Amino acid sequence: AAKAAGKSAYRVCTPELREAAVSRAELIADLRRAVDEGQLHLEFQPIVDLATGAVRSAEALVRWRHPRLGLLSPARFLPLAEETGLIVQIDRWVIHEACRAAATWRDRPTEATVAVNIAAAHLRRPDLIATVTAATAAAGLAPRTLTLELTESALIDGSEAVLERLRQLRELGIRIAIDDFGTGYSSLSYLHRIPATELKIDRSFVARLDLDDDRAYATVEMVTRLANAFDLSVVAEGVETERQHAAVAAIGCLHGQGYRYGRPGGLVQLNSLLGRAESGLTLT
Ligand code: C2E
Ligand code: MG
Ligand code: MG
Ligand code: MG
Repeated sequence: AAKAAGKSAYRVCTPELREAAVSRAELIADLRRAVDEGQLHLEFQPIVDLATGAVRSAEALVRWRHPRLGLLSPARFLPLAEETGLIVQIDRWVIHEACRAAATWRDRPTEATVAVNIAAAHLRRPDLIATVTAATAAAGLAPRTLTLELTESALIDGSEAVLERLRQLRELGIRIAIDDFGTGYSSLSYLHRIPATELKIDRSFVARLDLDDDRAYATVEMVTRLANAFDLSVVAEGVETERQHAAVAAIGCLHGQGYRYGRPGGLVQLNSLLGRAESGLTLT
């Protein structure tokens, strides 16, 4: 172990890593400017009703068009944003922008909702409530139009203050989804305490449905039943293939999200999907 440590200590001095460290610092500096300079934008991915194919909702996913590096995915910059606390500023921008966009959706169906992802650090802030209230009001949206997606890990270290904040958000009508469900270290008892309205089954389980994996099937089935018992609506995430689609529908999941139904895209694409659902065409 000492030898390994010595070796890695030596490696820290290699030119490659020094360069990596510099570009990381640069990336942080760039990220600080990204919001103000309008380099972020949103893509929207439809969430559909599995029975009819109608788009019931869309998830807003942030993208960063970096001046030199090109289009960066969240995996590339959100970890840095979280480390530096810039995530709160980014999430605020996302909430406002997503509400503004949802107000322009073509003939927005009354029940349609827009979902945004909320970082753990943001959930710990009391001003989250003021932010979402201001964003929905500015866009002229009813609070029930907005869903906040929270991961299990963000919820699990949830203090009583966080739970109280979630209850207040629910009282305002804001919807709460538990994202990537099944990947955290949650105990079932915490489901009782979280005032959620929906549960999103992580795509790692959905992916394994293609392999005729009995355990994956049983897991998705169990989570769906559990959600029904808790009166939570269920979304199967990452549905890519016909087989996955057929399996989650047979299990009784009511909603799906994934490349099978539509990739994340711009407002034009989302509007055309909304239009297609209105005209009664299904996605089969
Ligand atoms: P997530 O909230 O679970 O979002 C779903 C991710 O799965 C998206 O990746 C989406 O593009 C991808 N996806 C959807 N359907 C499929 C599919 O059929 N197959 C596969 N392989 N992938 C699919 P994306 O956009 O790269 O986002 C990754 C994660 O970054 C999100 O996971 C979310 O945790 C986080 N994120 C994205 N936007 C924001 C944001 O504005 N704020 C915060 N705090 N986090 C965000
Ligand atoms: Mg999400
Ligand atoms: Mg997810
Ligand atoms: Mg995910």
